[in-house]
Amino acid sequence: MLSPPSKAYSSSRWLKIFVTVVCLAIVALEGWRDWTERQQEFVRIEGEMSNLAKSLAQHAEDTFNRADAILVDMVDRLERQAVDHVDIRPMEEFLSERIQTLQALKSLTVYGEDGFVLASSLPGHSRVNVRDLAFFRHHAASPDGKWFFGPLVQDPLGGDRVLTLSRRLDRPDGSFAGVVQVSIPPRYFANFFGRIDLGSQGTIVMVSTLERGRILSRYPYDASVIGTTPPPPPWLLDGSPSGSQPYLSPVDGMPRLAGYQRNHVYPVVLLAAVGQEEALRNWTMEFQIRSLGVAILIVIIGLLGWRLARELRRREQAEAELAVLAATDPLTGLANRRTFDLRLEIEWLRAARDGTPLSLLLIDVDQFKSYNDFYGHQQGDECLRKVARVIADGARRPGDLVARYGGEEIVVLLPGTDASGAATIAERIRASVEALAVHHEANSPSYTLTISIGSVTQSPAADPSNTSPASLIEMADKALYQAKQDGRNRVAIATAA
Ligand code: GH3
Ligand code: MG
Ligand code: MG
Repeated sequence: MLSPPSKAYSSSRWLKIFVTVVCLAIVALEGWRDWTERQQEFVRIEGEMSNLAKSLAQHAEDTFNRADAILVDMVDRLERQAVDHVDIRPMEEFLSERIQTLQALKSLTVYGEDGFVLASSLPGHSRVNVRDLAFFRHHAASPDGKWFFGPLVQDPLGGDRVLTLSRRLDRPDGSFAGVVQVSIPPRYFANFFGRIDLGSQGTIVMVSTLERGRILSRYPYDASVIGTTPPPPPWLLDGSPSGSQPYLSPVDGMPRLAGYQRNHVYPVVLLAAVGQEEALRNWTMEFQIRSLGVAILIVIIGLLGWRLARELRRREQAEAELAVLAATDPLTGLANRRTFDLRLEIEWLRAARDGTPLSLLLIDVDQFKSYNDFYGHQQGDECLRKVARVIADGARRPGDLVARYGGEEIVVLLPGTDASGAATIAERIRASVEALAVHHEANSPSYTLTISIGSVTQSPAADPSNTSPASLIEMADKALYQAKQDGRNRVAIATAA
């Protein structure tokens, strides 16, 4: 019996593959676009941070330069007056006036050669001694007249830690006479940094390059962080003197995008950074909206595609079923006459080409008219189905075809089967129908349902001009007639015309 072709429903499968590929392509393209936009956003923000760090480094340099200008001026005045003979009171007034215009400076102090305060813009510290502080030791030991940028120290005049910038005082003979020093509170820079809007996650840090990453000032200001030395990212001190990098803050662990600039005069590096999450907030929002759009689009395409594929599959299924129906005999489920005619033509040509034999059995139920008359047509139909099943079971090689030829006649096509093979199959079919032992009142002498078979075998290649598919049927028909003549329930083999 016939089954649907194995390649059925392939269009719906291709449609599903196509829809899947389209969806994947949309996701891939959108993902690539989002990624490049994110990279561009990174580059833009890092550029901004880098420029900001440059300006901040310049501001720091200007601040230190202005402080140093005061130191130079003081050194000049004091060396001309002779340090040991200055009048303390007017001197202190002068010092406090001198730094009033400079917000950055907390104090301006003159120390004698023994380290005691001689005069200060913050008066009343004459008993303070800085003998042991780095800046004093440096100037006492070195005749170098250059400024000294001291490490962050606890303000000798009291209060928080300060940055110090100082210069040495000489006597006319060149011997050490003392030190002039200014204090700059880290808070000054933090306040200045705070005027720049870098969002709630932004930060600006001034780091010492001499002390390998010590934080000199930082916004947001936290006194406990100033003076600490969290491990700085390697590029900050050792890489190129300026640039931009994403990094994980060693202070608060926040991922940020930073720009930095090392100052080439003073040993500081300025770093400006925004929180990565905050900086990419716009991008992230757009990304989420676009992703939602893409997801909806994909769901729509997917749903439509799948529905279409289902519809296509339904149609293909129906078409395949129709094709089977068109090729099948409805009563017996065997191939119908049309299918048989097509196959006979094909097998005939194949046998002619390959030089193989082609056999055909024409089968007719004995006294079937009487069977109908006796048992009724419905019983006749049922009986015909049984016979069809038995015959189909008798010819099961892949190339064999069992078809209903017409009425109660069934034909069996046996490609590549010679005469003796065909006779064997015919006899086996005849015997198995008889073995059904269906009672048939009008079929004497056996009173059992039987069939007669006309068998014919031809080799179309042997003499193609003399034979044709039609002659094959004609010969089988004659043999069948002979079988009927000879008493039914037998196989008759056609002899060459
Ligand atoms: P014979 O042994 O000589 O073949 O005698 P017969 O009565 O079988 O003669 P024939 O083959 O000419 O009869 C064909 C009968 O088969 C006619 C009809 O009553 C019956 N028949 C044909 N097709 C069908 C069918 O589809 N269903 C039923 N129930 N009977 C059918
Ligand atoms: Mg008949
Ligand atoms: Mg008959």
